[in-house]
Amino acid sequence: MTIRLVIGEATDVGRVRDHNEDGYLVDDGLGLVAVADGMGGHRGGEVASATAIEALHASFAQHGGLRDAVIAANDAVLDRAKGDESLRGMGTTLTAGVLGDDGTLLIGHVGDSRAYHLRDGALSRVTTDHSLVEELIAAGELTEDEAERDPRRSMITRAIGLDSNLVVDLIPVVLVPGDRVMMCSDGLTTMVSERAIAEVLVQQSDPAIAAQRLVDAANDAGGIDNITVLVLDAAGDLPPSAVEPRKRRGIFGRRV
Ligand code: MN
Repeated sequence: MTIRLVIGEATDVGRVRDHNEDGYLVDDGLGLVAVADGMGGHRGGEVASATAIEALHASFAQHGGLRDAVIAANDAVLDRAKGDESLRGMGTTLTAGVLGDDGTLLIGHVGDSRAYHLRDGALSRVTTDHSLVEELIAAGELTEDEAERDPRRSMITRAIGLDSNLVVDLIPVVLVPGDRVMMCSDGLTTMVSERAIAEVLVQQSDPAIAAQRLVDAANDAGGIDNITVLVLDAAGDLPPSAVEPRKRRGIFGRRV
């Protein structure tokens, strides 16, 4: 069966920061989505996430190929930083998804933004954080509980814009109608437990409202970081006569 996606999104600066360095992309026509969480002094974080998303989008639109598009994003951020002293050292996470004709959502991932898969009420994490605490957990030096309170938890070990030799995780998620995928920046997952996230995703059937509820939950918990959430619902294809044209090309986060 052909799968189509119904996508809801929400982003917010949070309760503490004065600007939003997260960026996201929803392109229904290409079946391409992405979340990017930028970092770096001055305006570096914002520039990094926006540059990465623009380059990802342009490369994918022209050539297809998710890994190449993530590499193009990396090259673009490195290039941009080279030409501007004030942007030196900027970087961004990038978690992108593209829906294939066979109903497989291919996820390309660098950093500590995340993708989750909800099926039959059970939430599982699709991505592995490229972070110091995740490495310490894998090495048996830290428990999951300790990691949640560890002051080093925002330190990431892989990002877009830091090194021209980038390793990209590629994870295929085979979707069936009724599945839901949620992609987010760490401003959600550092504030809201996975159990509470699952509860919202199970209870709220509208993807746009679910995304907003998750952002609200992160803010209710303190909102110490920017928060971005995409909720992707997998639906079976409608008969051609019932398809309503829904054109929404290249929505770039805050710069709609
Ligand atoms: Mn963040």
